[in-house]
Amino acid sequence: MLRPPGSAITGLTCTRCGAEHDHTVLQGLCTSCGGPLYARYDMERAGRTLTPEALAARPRSMWRYAEVLPVEDPAFRLNLGEGDTPLFYSRRIGPDLGLDRLLLKDEGLNPTGSFKARGLCMAVSRAAELGAGAFSIPTAGNAGGALSAYAAAAGLPAYIFMPSDTPSRFVEECRMYGAEVTLVEGFITDAGRRAREELEGSDRFDVSTLKEPYRVEGKKIMGYELFEQLGGELPDVIVYPTGGGTGLVGMWKAFGEMEELGWIGGERPRMVSVQASGCAPVVKAFHAGDEDYEAWPDPRTMAMGLRVPAAVGDVEILKALRGSGGTALSVDEDEILDGVLELGRREGVYASPEDGAVVGALRKLKAEGFLEGDERVVAFLTGHGMKYAELIQEALRERGERM
Ligand SMILES: *Cc1c(COP(=O)(O)O)cnc(C)c1O
Ligand SMILES: [Zn+2]
Repeated sequence: MLRPPGSAITGLTCTRCGAEHDHTVLQGLCTSCGGPLYARYDMERAGRTLTPEALAARPRSMWRYAEVLPVEDPAFRLNLGEGDTPLFYSRRIGPDLGLDRLLLKDEGLNPTGSFKARGLCMAVSRAAELGAGAFSIPTAGNAGGALSAYAAAAGLPAYIFMPSDTPSRFVEECRMYGAEVTLVEGFITDAGRRAREELEGSDRFDVSTLKEPYRVEGKKIMGYELFEQLGGELPDVIVYPTGGGTGLVGMWKAFGEMEELGWIGGERPRMVSVQASGCAPVVKAFHAGDEDYEAWPDPRTMAMGLRVPAAVGDVEILKALRGSGGTALSVDEDEILDGVLELGRREGVYASPEDGAVVGALRKLKAEGFLEGDERVVAFLTGHGMKYAELIQEALRERGERM
């Protein structure tokens, strides 16, 4: 099998003010305006070797998209088996809703049980290549485990800051990979403050969502994979449980790149953000017609990946939803739990609460007429339910139910 050629990266551009930044050194947010930075590639050069035919012959890994990924020296490409997750037709939930072509992309099968593995694989690989000595992240869930695993693979220390009420399974996971976990009283924002205080004068590199340019590069590969798995087409609709929105904006970026490569035209899937009604800043801003949003006060939901009150990429999320003719909607905790049970009992997928939210959203989207019966809809299942076993049990108990 052919080894993929190298990265065609040429620079970093600020998504807000357009300022250019050096891609050969570690970078955080834009130094002029504080906006997120995006990697830019020489797409003409990339396209000479990155073709659908060439891809089909390369080893199954995210790294087969090397031309449009930032890591330049193959020795730094960490690989724990991330990416290449299955895409399969829903056997019951879709057809029962009148959606005959509902596809489920099961991201829970990634290393560390969530699609956070994609982004952190890329961020850690690239930062290690550029000389990072250690990593730091505030997280209430899956990002901590993913960072810890990839830092261990890179042989570098990871410092994880978690709210003290984080379920023990998520804390233990980080420690299992040798990371140092600090539990902080309060919300994720408090954990973030503490992490930032300790960054000062340390060799730690902050890999918070969109505060460095490369997690989004790992997540964007989901967009490329959809095209490949659908035989060179994109779906009509993508339904995505949205927290920081990295995957949503990542896929949006990927579609732009694929257009530059000449693989697709100007058409785009309608992008749909799903949130929990206890933390729905994207939904609120989308329907209010706002271009960005303030922090959601008192965020509450058992879907920890969706408990993100404010996002660095808020502007980009809203642009992708509007630019695609998409929408945003929220579901409540009962709908989330029902969705989890349905995925388990009717599809054979041990689902996370984030996945449950997606199922609740599909039902509403069909009822509202946003989805047509013959459309090809891809629903993202983003986490493995086994990590949430206690949370799910607790939610059932509160309803007076049992497994
Ligand atoms: C982080 C997370 C999300 C949200 O992902 P974003 O790309 O940050 O919006 C959804 N589901 C799970 C399981 C997560 O861990
Ligand atoms: Zn800027």
